[in-house]
Amino acid sequence: MTKEKAVADDAIRSILIVGGGTAGWMTAAALAHALPRGCTITLIESEEIGTVGVGEATIPPIRLFNETLGIAEADFLRATQGSFKLGIEFVDWARLGQRYFHPFGSFGKPFDLVAVHQHWLAARAAGSTVPLDDLAMAWGAAKRNRFARPLPDPRSIGSTFDYAYHFDAGLYAAFLRRYAEARGVVRVEGKVADVALEGTSGHVASVTLADGRPLEADLFVDCSGFRGLLIEGALQTGYEDWSHWLPCDRAMAVPSARTAPFTPFTRSTARSAGWQWRIPLQHRTGNGYVYCSRHLSDDEAAATLLANLDGEALGEPRALRFITGRRRLFWNRNVVAIGLASGFMEPLESTSIHLIQAGISKLLALFPTRRFDPLVTDEYNRIAITEVERIRDFLILHYKLTQRADAPLWRECAAMAVPDTLQLKIDHFRRFGRLIARDMDLFGAASWSAVHIGQLNLPEARDPLLDHVADPARSRAFVDQLAGAIARAAETMPSHGNAIARTIA
Ligand code: FAD
Repeated sequence: MTKEKAVADDAIRSILIVGGGTAGWMTAAALAHALPRGCTITLIESEEIGTVGVGEATIPPIRLFNETLGIAEADFLRATQGSFKLGIEFVDWARLGQRYFHPFGSFGKPFDLVAVHQHWLAARAAGSTVPLDDLAMAWGAAKRNRFARPLPDPRSIGSTFDYAYHFDAGLYAAFLRRYAEARGVVRVEGKVADVALEGTSGHVASVTLADGRPLEADLFVDCSGFRGLLIEGALQTGYEDWSHWLPCDRAMAVPSARTAPFTPFTRSTARSAGWQWRIPLQHRTGNGYVYCSRHLSDDEAAATLLANLDGEALGEPRALRFITGRRRLFWNRNVVAIGLASGFMEPLESTSIHLIQAGISKLLALFPTRRFDPLVTDEYNRIAITEVERIRDFLILHYKLTQRADAPLWRECAAMAVPDTLQLKIDHFRRFGRLIARDMDLFGAASWSAVHIGQLNLPEARDPLLDHVADPARSRAFVDQLAGAIARAAETMPSHGNAIARTIA
């Protein structure tokens, strides 16, 4: 047998995706694009079971996903009722009445070795009242409800921000279904009733639908949502529960009529037992209250949500339950779990759809043969676990840094012990305002400094390097100049509404 023949004999010939939510159809579309030949791709979904159906805010890498698939921004925004997102405004998180913005992109452009937030701290100590937010181009545009795409010239302040989208995840799944089916993915309507394992390897051999139809495959992708039909139901992989760090375990979601202004950002408002999201789409506004059931009943959550909408509710609030955490393995035997089947950390920083994308990228980068070499699956799990733990730490930071003492949830969060990896970051920022990067941090310097400073983890002392680089008057002049340049650039941008209208025209 030739070497080439051996490779071909081992090749994955069939993939079965179980689940047709955002995860299932993103996976189907991406695999159909990446594997144009030699492998059948089938997706099973059950209309009777349905999908989670929320999940409307994203982070900038989603643009790369669409670009890779050759999806034009205009087609995407038209099909999904999408809007632009420049970051997240956090209200009442540090204290009641206090707000800050987590921008996409950076705070200005460093003009020396010292981070921009260090100059901001020095300027503030010298009497400046310019908020840190005003040093981010993303907020300059967002607070004026304006939007334009970043400029390509790196010398321009207009190049220093990034953007993502808000969209209707159900419409996105339908859009990707059309894309995937046009490229040969076969959709099967039906409910998986049974899963058969191979005797010796323990691999999944086939699934059987409720009507008795069996479906076999070499590789299975579990996109069945929270239930994790294959990864947990069949393979009993186990779940690492993070609810002692991320205590919210329920959400009440309801859309409302769209109101002005049409904001190009998500808003997250802390409430007594969790937080409320507000996500503006073209046709409606998405809202939800993510809360901790130890501190609030479902009825109270629904009442609070309905009392805090800025437009008429378009339906009854829908309840969702979850346990924050992750599967012990993301890839077990011949099953890769993607989407909610792999775990869920709550939607505070809009990371779930990103993790679907990251799962697909890893699967393609480490695409297996039918031998399912542990070298490959171990590496997939190592990367996946590190990625989610880095995101977990960033989410916990928001809860840990609260100074609210008005409700038991917030008092508990302020007092909780956090992972060592996060405590180290908090300690370094508190000492000299330094950002300690970790392997595979998804969120970069601007994100971490926005949350540290926005939630009042203010450094005890400035970076000692700063005193060798600039005096406070120079830092203050830099801050004033930067804020001025951002304000002037933002004033030239069209309104968010006009930017959308021009894009989809
Ligand atoms: P699901 O949508 O649950 O889909 C599961 C699929 O499996 C369905 O098609 C179902 O029919 C099928 N299925 C299940 N069992 C069977 C069976 N026995 N037989 C056949 N088919 C079956 N993410 C973000 O990125 N941004 C956000 O702003 C955001 N907000 C969120 C807010 C909340 C409250 C929640 C809970 C999640 C949020 N998410 C967000 C996460 C996002 O909704 C999910 O990551 C995304 O929708 C993917 O879900 P999924 O496809 O994994 O699962």
